[in-house]
Amino acid sequence: MEEEAFIVERFKRYYSTHWTKAPKQVHTREFGFGGWSKKIESRHYSFSSEKEMNAFLGRNAPLFISYSEAHYAYPAARPIEKKNWLSGDLVFDIDANELGMPCTEKHKKEWVCEMCMDRAKECALRLIDDFLVKDFNVPKEEIEVNFSGNRGYHIHVSTRFQTIKGYGRKEIADYVNANGLDYDHFFRQDLIHKRIFGPKVTDGGWKGKLTQMLVDGIKNRTLERLGIAKKTVEKFYSRIDAADQIANGNWEAVYITDRKKFFSNLVENIKRQHGAFVDEGVTFDTSKLIRMPDSIHGETGLLAQRIPVNDLERYDWTTRPVVFSDSPFRVYVKKSQPVILKGQIFGPYEDQTLDLPEYAAVYLICKKAAVLAENKDRAIAATKSVQKEENKQEGHSVI
Ligand SMILES: [Zn+2]
Repeated sequence: MEEEAFIVERFKRYYSTHWTKAPKQVHTREFGFGGWSKKIESRHYSFSSEKEMNAFLGRNAPLFISYSEAHYAYPAARPIEKKNWLSGDLVFDIDANELGMPCTEKHKKEWVCEMCMDRAKECALRLIDDFLVKDFNVPKEEIEVNFSGNRGYHIHVSTRFQTIKGYGRKEIADYVNANGLDYDHFFRQDLIHKRIFGPKVTDGGWKGKLTQMLVDGIKNRTLERLGIAKKTVEKFYSRIDAADQIANGNWEAVYITDRKKFFSNLVENIKRQHGAFVDEGVTFDTSKLIRMPDSIHGETGLLAQRIPVNDLERYDWTTRPVVFSDSPFRVYVKKSQPVILKGQIFGPYEDQTLDLPEYAAVYLICKKAAVLAENKDRAIAATKSVQKEENKQEGHSVI
């Protein structure tokens, strides 16, 4: 059996025995589907009801199911202008590979590890608590979260931002990512009194967050972690009321030699520690198709599972979204990074034939790192021919 048929058979079994909850107002959504070679092979589909959608999934079992964050009057119409955009959910995508983690260099972008996935969760929690709830006053019960099925989390708000168009959404993404914070915006020079007024802890948005971070650094004696020069750090520590003065906006209480440099260090640090690192393109583009919650991801065989917002902190992505069985399957693994699933570490493997539980076999086959054992010779021959081709392109002589 070919690997694609093996996977499709399993997805079909899942969709024909499980009812999948449709996105809200399903009849206004555009759907797109992907297969073995592409995440979106066809789009412009629509369903009149959840029932119709489930019948389609059971019949066709696409490997990737995406839907529009937008609501359209005519979701199946094409080109896109004819769909008649009505409104759109506000969507954020947090991808473990885009967080600048050192582990990503090591395991490359196709894989994840606990470290970058923990960081992705931390960013998702921060987006919800520090930005959506605190800064935008979105009640927690209006926030929907799902595991992306592969490398991160998606956060959807289907209320209150519905009619905001692309650039308004871009501003929201820029805000949560701390893009474009600049010195001039934070400090005001009063020429008459020859004083500089800075932000206070009680200020909203980044002004308050930045001031709080500095005040905490003074109180906890951790200013060095903010990239502040030792000499300046000592000035802050030697003044007993420095934290109170800064908290109230008196940034001149401590003389800072190079204020611009000092500030740019602070901004870099606050971005790293308090930014949400969302993919701006996903939030901005209101015609984007995004993974449907509770569908299986064709690159992992894991469910892009809905997570009750209050459960996110303790959500275990290595166990909860596993939908396939423990039955053993013999596979040949060309090369894989270690994968943790259901509390067990699989790999790293290289050039190995072994029995794996169905869910781990599906994961590695979907990642294109493994094939069914019976296809080992074909896989080795294919790898050799790819290498030959690469050598040719690099101008090496092939014997
Ligand atoms: Zn990692």
